[in-house]
Amino acid sequence: MMTLRWRWVVASVVCLWWVGFPVFGAEKLRVLIIDGQNNHNWVATTPVLKAALEKCGRFTVDVSTTPPAPPRAPTAPRGQLTAAQKAAHEKAMAAWKEKKAAVEKESAEQWKTWRPKFSDYAAVVSNYNGELWPEPVCRAFEEYVRSGGGLVVFHAANNAFPQWPEWNLMIGLGWRGNTFGDRVTVDDNGNVVRTPKGEGPGAGHGPQHEYQVRIRDREHSITQGLPEVWLHPKDELYQGQRGPAKNMRILATAFASPEFRGTGAHEPMLWVIPYGKGRCFTTLLGHDEHSCRCIGFQTTLCRGAEWAATGRVTLPVPDNFPTAKEVRLAE
Ligand code: ZN
Repeated sequence: MMTLRWRWVVASVVCLWWVGFPVFGAEKLRVLIIDGQNNHNWVATTPVLKAALEKCGRFTVDVSTTPPAPPRAPTAPRGQLTAAQKAAHEKAMAAWKEKKAAVEKESAEQWKTWRPKFSDYAAVVSNYNGELWPEPVCRAFEEYVRSGGGLVVFHAANNAFPQWPEWNLMIGLGWRGNTFGDRVTVDDNGNVVRTPKGEGPGAGHGPQHEYQVRIRDREHSITQGLPEVWLHPKDELYQGQRGPAKNMRILATAFASPEFRGTGAHEPMLWVIPYGKGRCFTTLLGHDEHSCRCIGFQTTLCRGAEWAATGRVTLPVPDNFPTAKEVRLAE
């Protein structure tokens, strides 16, 4: 016969179990994707990133979209212009100036209220490559990462903000010219090679192609348990990235083959950097929707986000992970 006290205990456990379900659901890690300006099709890639992060079951994802970038000036046709071409171009320029002024006026108002609450999130994923954020947002973001927040830098997000020193420390290497900072590569023996600024190539990429991504650090929790090499679908292969590269730990590289106008070096593709109490993970993969469907990309994105958010990884390596010879794409 159960004593009254035991009945209480059993009832409490059952209640907690029931109540606990939605609570556990709510305990997913909150991630914020930032987009809104990019020389890439962020409208197409943000949903792929969001779906991948949600599908792995570890995150809930919000998106914060900045005000739009001012429109680009129309380019004049090359060579000697006919009178009609000249008139048409002048007309297009006048229309562009009007549109630009209108967008800038509206954006100025929107920027005043764009204040993402970073502290609500365990990690921030940047799919942003555009105008510098307003000063209070930059300072809030620095404070957020410094005090333990996570940052995931996705593809062209590392092109952004050369004028923001703390951002450069977080990303380590960015799409910059060769005088901006050091270059970091890996030689054929797996040793890290540092090339000082001013020497060697600056940022670039050749034509898109399929390439192998090679894990260089199998001790790190993001890459632990991954096969040593996976075949990544047609994508840009960033090379010659430049920056302060302080405390940078390279997780994976890809060989920039001269056959595809590459540097002939093993270029870093995935890496991590501490910033204060926070953690920054960069992936250079994912120029477009197609390459973002790579299961290798999505797995490392999710594991990288989990690590950035918590400092550890619980997400497993999926059975359908790509092999050294076979690309595998998510639905
Ligand atoms: Zn790209």
